[in-house]
Amino acid sequence: MSDEQQIERMKTLLDAQKKAFAADRHRSIDERKADIEKVGDLVKHHAKDIMDAIAADYGARSCAETQIAEIGFTISAAKHARSHVAKWAKPKRASVPLTLAPGKAYVRREPKGVAGIISPWNYPLQLAFTPLIAALAAGCRAIIKPSEFTPRTAELMARMLAEAFDENHVAVITGGPAVGEAFAKLPFDHLFYTGSTHVGRLVAMAAADNLVPVTLELGGKSPAIITEDYDLTEAAKPLTWGKYFNAGQTCIAPDYVLAPKDKVRATGEAILAEVQSYYPEPGSDPDYTAIISDKHHQRLSRMIEEARAGGATILQPEMGETGNVRKIPPTIVLDPPLESKLMQEEIFGPVLPVLGYETLNGAISFVNDRDHPLALYVYAKDKAVARRVLDATMSGGASVNASMLHMSVEGMPFGGVGKSGYGAYHGEHGFLTFSHERAVFEAPVWHPSRWIAPPYGKRFDFISKLQMK
Ligand code: NAD
Repeated sequence: MSDEQQIERMKTLLDAQKKAFAADRHRSIDERKADIEKVGDLVKHHAKDIMDAIAADYGARSCAETQIAEIGFTISAAKHARSHVAKWAKPKRASVPLTLAPGKAYVRREPKGVAGIISPWNYPLQLAFTPLIAALAAGCRAIIKPSEFTPRTAELMARMLAEAFDENHVAVITGGPAVGEAFAKLPFDHLFYTGSTHVGRLVAMAAADNLVPVTLELGGKSPAIITEDYDLTEAAKPLTWGKYFNAGQTCIAPDYVLAPKDKVRATGEAILAEVQSYYPEPGSDPDYTAIISDKHHQRLSRMIEEARAGGATILQPEMGETGNVRKIPPTIVLDPPLESKLMQEEIFGPVLPVLGYETLNGAISFVNDRDHPLALYVYAKDKAVARRVLDATMSGGASVNASMLHMSVEGMPFGGVGKSGYGAYHGEHGFLTFSHERAVFEAPVWHPSRWIAPPYGKRFDFISKLQMK
């Protein structure tokens, strides 16, 4: 289907979904559980198709990583939502102040309506299906616009969802930026965007025209600070895992490392040793993922060359044969120039700069002089030191002595702050993102609030005094 046809189709779909929502605003909890279960089951039944489609889109994608970060992650999210949705959806009581008694106050958590979900290529299934699960838990309908960089996965998701849902409940629109642009202009009841900060800004501006509420799950440069007391080989393990998982194409991958100044080389060497134990020959290693596109491959290669030309030391393992796939060696860059692209832009690939700091306060200032990142990592034996770093900085989320693990705790919000985005999801936070919290006050037929009306007299004075107490 051409972009023009997709754009026409999305308008028809939105209209149909809005009408269907208006006719059936309150999906029962049992229906929502069944919707969520269908998503989990689809992922289970199509696990092999998902692995194949993502591997084909990437050219080479670690099956183990697809298993854990796309299939397993999404099934866990579905299980969690299914078992908690009844509790999440219950109205929440609020206490009534004496001046308004008697009465009942409560917040109804109602579905917003039809959600639009725009997803990126780096975890093409997880980042489309986990917001979908949250939307279904909230009782919403949804249309997904996946990334054009993963066309096979997008087609597969469209086929899978069509097996289990009517189009007026859940649908997929495929296409590139022109389709995304038209999609963001539609009057959804909520728009959920995951992708780059640059496009996120365009999405927010497009949605503003219709006052559509937006969640922006964006990127940024997530720092990792190794403190003085932390063993470098211990720090190297989670850093290597976090950075080279999906070849660094992860929004919360450690973007750069700050190490004590005299330990920069030792840090780089500890990470290189870990890399060599992970991938003896990254070129042909099926667990070392390829770069998604030629454009990104060239961008990353240029970043490395610019840092080399600027005097940085580059550490790389033997790559071996890559065949026809676009791989970039797992790369560590010691002391890149601060004005290089590597230190100015989100890297989003398997290249890890290591920079030195004189004092911990200096490392904290380095982080605070830049945009608030999506994640922050601190490695410290002393919990008070870790807390000091957390207290002095701001980021979407953080892990201490680990990398990326905070995002796998379903009960915690996942989202950015400042340029790394706004709004959050996962677990109940996702449910709330797609819900409208409607405040209701129920008064008895006769209520003393009638005294707060002209002509103001003694009873009004009495209530007013109570309020001032
Ligand atoms: P991208 O912004 O290029 O594309 C994301 C989606 O936006 C795609 O579906 C694309 O078709 C669509 N799109 C493109 N132009 C559009 C426009 N003008 N209007 C509306 N939609 C448009 O991002 P990407 O390269 O696919 O993803 C990489 C970025 O995403 C990185 O910065 C990464 O950090 C970030 N990311 C963030 C998270 C998170 O959870 N915070 C997760 C994954 C990726």
